[in-house]
Amino acid sequence: MSVLIFIDHIDGHVKKASLEALCYGAKIAEQTGDVAEGIVLGSLTEDLAAFGQYGVKKIHHVQNDALNNFDAQTYTKVIAQAAEQTGAKLIVFSNNSSGKSVAPRVAVRLKAGLVSGAVALPDTSNGFIVKKNVFSGKAFAHVAVKTDVKVITLNVNSFTISSGEGKADIVPFTATVDSSGIKVVSSSKTSGTVLLTEADVVVSAGRGLKGPENWGMVEELANVLGAALACSRPVADAHWRPHNEHVGQTGVAIAPNLYIAIGISGAIQHLAGVNRSKVIVVINKDAEAPFFKAADYGIVGDAFEIVPKLTKAVKKLKGIA
Ligand SMILES: Cc1cc2nc3c(=O)[nH]c(=O)nc-3n(C[C@H](O)[C@H](O)[C@H](O)COP(=O)(O)OP(=O)(O)OC[C@H]3O[C@@H](n4cnc5c(N)ncnc54)[C@H](O)[C@@H]3O)c2cc1C
Repeated sequence: MSVLIFIDHIDGHVKKASLEALCYGAKIAEQTGDVAEGIVLGSLTEDLAAFGQYGVKKIHHVQNDALNNFDAQTYTKVIAQAAEQTGAKLIVFSNNSSGKSVAPRVAVRLKAGLVSGAVALPDTSNGFIVKKNVFSGKAFAHVAVKTDVKVITLNVNSFTISSGEGKADIVPFTATVDSSGIKVVSSSKTSGTVLLTEADVVVSAGRGLKGPENWGMVEELANVLGAALACSRPVADAHWRPHNEHVGQTGVAIAPNLYIAIGISGAIQHLAGVNRSKVIVVINKDAEAPFFKAADYGIVGDAFEIVPKLTKAVKKLKGIA
């Protein structure tokens, strides 16, 4: 059997989340004595053979300009064809936006059991049991997958990327790429240098900032930390910040290594999108703010005093004037 891993990319560059999925799929293959193989759709600027360092033996490359723009329905058809032709019994995706839209469709086509949001390697000692997050990260479920073909999406930042030696063989894969009926007419990129869903560090602010004119200090802190910017929902609703920065239950779900929340109360709907962050730092002037219960580090005080001091301290530490 083979484990097929979808390698997702943006502007020709592989997403960090895909490397996590690659390592995860390769580890499962090692665990079950199978072969790990990757699949890339469209053009990539990176050396495909180098993915061998993450444990995959082969990369199936579907080189077709029609695949350079992500389209869930077309991608589903191509990945399902590849899974059938390669005899893959497990298909692994990242649980990012593209994985979330393609994996369930692939599962339906292949009549496969789907586990979305896995957080650990499956227990294959007696069956195939996958640990996943449920109830917005408040609990875990252990799901037994009993179908012959299985599909897993791996939560972002749940599995460490590790690399070694090795080159993968590049195997051109010819797929029937018919139009899904959806045509990408144009696309516009969100501003910001760091992609929120891929960021290691996120600096986020809420209504405690009082108004959009006060975001300069938040941006400065994010800049010195090389962080992405985020915000609470009311901030985006009030057009203080763009909606693509809104995190939470109805916004983007993130899992950075460090999440700094400034002037955010920590409502359950906000926490639902950020509580998988590895370390949470909360800055709030109200010592009773609910966010402190979820925080690893908390600073009780006025953001307008603390944030500039924090920025100054980080600059000093990094030797930035
Ligand atoms: C169905 C539904 C879905 C929702 N989805 C989301 C979602 O996805 N994301 C989301 O964020 N919200 C969501 N919400 C809204 C959520 O319930 C909260 O209302 C929202 O998160 C509050 O935003 P906030 O913390 O910025 O503002 P507030 O609740 O007003 O909190 C502001 C905080 O700033 C602190 N503060 C004030 N001044 C300062 C200062 N000078 N220095 C430091 N701290 C200060 C205050 O003590 C307070 O804790 C949703 C609500 C519903 C009903």
